[in-house]
Amino acid sequence: MTLSIPFDNSYARLPGQLFTRLDPTPVAEPRLIAWNHALASELGIDLPGVDESSLARHFSGNDVPSGAQPLAQAYAGHQFGQWNPQLGDGRAILLGEVQAPSGRFDIQLKGAGRTPYSRMGDGRAWLGPVLREYVMSEAMHAMGIPTTRALAAVSTGENVLREAPLPGAILTRVAKSHVRVGTFQFFAARADTEALQALADHVIARHYPDAKNITQLLEKVVEAQADLIASWMSVGFIHGVMNTDNMSLAAETIDYGPCAFMDAYHPKMVFSSIDQFGRYAYANQPQIAVWNIAQFASALIPLMEDTDAAVEEFTEIVNRFPDHYQQAWLARFGAKLGLPQLEDPALAEELLSLMARDGADFTNVFANLPDARDEFIDRDAFDDWAARWQALGPDEALMARSNPQVVPRLHRIEQSIEAAVSGDFAPFKRLLKIATQPFDLKEEDAAYSRPPAEEERVTRTFCG
Ligand code: AMP
Ligand code: MG
Ligand code: MG
Repeated sequence: MTLSIPFDNSYARLPGQLFTRLDPTPVAEPRLIAWNHALASELGIDLPGVDESSLARHFSGNDVPSGAQPLAQAYAGHQFGQWNPQLGDGRAILLGEVQAPSGRFDIQLKGAGRTPYSRMGDGRAWLGPVLREYVMSEAMHAMGIPTTRALAAVSTGENVLREAPLPGAILTRVAKSHVRVGTFQFFAARADTEALQALADHVIARHYPDAKNITQLLEKVVEAQADLIASWMSVGFIHGVMNTDNMSLAAETIDYGPCAFMDAYHPKMVFSSIDQFGRYAYANQPQIAVWNIAQFASALIPLMEDTDAAVEEFTEIVNRFPDHYQQAWLARFGAKLGLPQLEDPALAEELLSLMARDGADFTNVFANLPDARDEFIDRDAFDDWAARWQALGPDEALMARSNPQVVPRLHRIEQSIEAAVSGDFAPFKRLLKIATQPFDLKEEDAAYSRPPAEEERVTRTFCG
């Protein structure tokens, strides 16, 4: 039986140069690894009575649900600052969009086969990055951070060749949209103002309906990205590959490649094996967002009548990012310290510098305040800070809902991937369950809040 999903595909109605229509490439033996019931019902596509094998066929691309108009999107981007005019969905296929009570969402298969944008790639994904994205994105969502989501993971029964043959898998990603800064760049670089205008109209209608024009669109994107990056910083999240093609115009966290939550805090922390110069280090993320938004602003210029005036105005708008970011950062870190009215960053910054000096665990310091002195080497310095902080009367209930007790730590993710590759999905399922209830760590799961032991430590991540 073919599933019927009430798709309404607005992207497929845009000018043809924005995408290529094509179906996913079928896989040998699709098997359902995970299905996100809660998300499916939020989307209004919980499919009662549908068996697992049918879900596996539809969310591998072997069967295309009726109403889908599968397509791969064109985009370009700056990768580590280097311009690449031709990227695009090299292994992702958008099935279509659904209108849920909470808004319109893309449903996309990631790892669904080659497309005209695949370049040298095989169009596939292996199990590791699929499980990583599933856990990381659902954990971010559970912490209240804007993100793409994971609806399904399916194993393909085929191997993909990476450094070795590895089991293949497909992730079904749900996003407010998959329009990126790089999507705009693609058409700006080709001087295709028709496509650019259609894209801008699409993004405004879909994400920023209050924006009356391009200038206001840029303002909204600056604000939304400042909020997003501040939310990453507040949980010690390092994206790892903030290329312009990985920055969503919907301001959701997207593309969980070499990302990680930090254990020991350090502002210069980097995990990605390909980030040799630390371009995407933790503390650089706000500046990189500004750089990316400046690329977005440049791509919008062809839509403006008076170029010189637009350049001036856009520069001024992009330069407002630090103020928005500072406000968002104060709100996030103020909440973490139980001080909703925090106006001066100094108190939070002092704590962070003590943490950096002593390599204190990011998640656990905040989760255990005020009893975090054991996380520090210089306990007197912490006690001194804590006394000044407690004198301000922190709101404990606010802290409890602002400080996750547990995050999916890198070593746990790696352990669950290793087990899954040898056929045991129980560690993945357990980690997923714990990571999606980050404010409610159960006694029996306490070990998941512990940083890695020396022999468990993972220092490098890969794009997959
Ligand atoms: P990313 O580093 O994940 O942002 O990917 C950068 C570009 O490489 C995008 O255009 C992806 O679609 C493409 N890509 C990544 N992996 C593959 C793959 N296995 N096959 C084809 N294209 C890929
Ligand atoms: Mg990407
Ligand atoms: Mg990626």
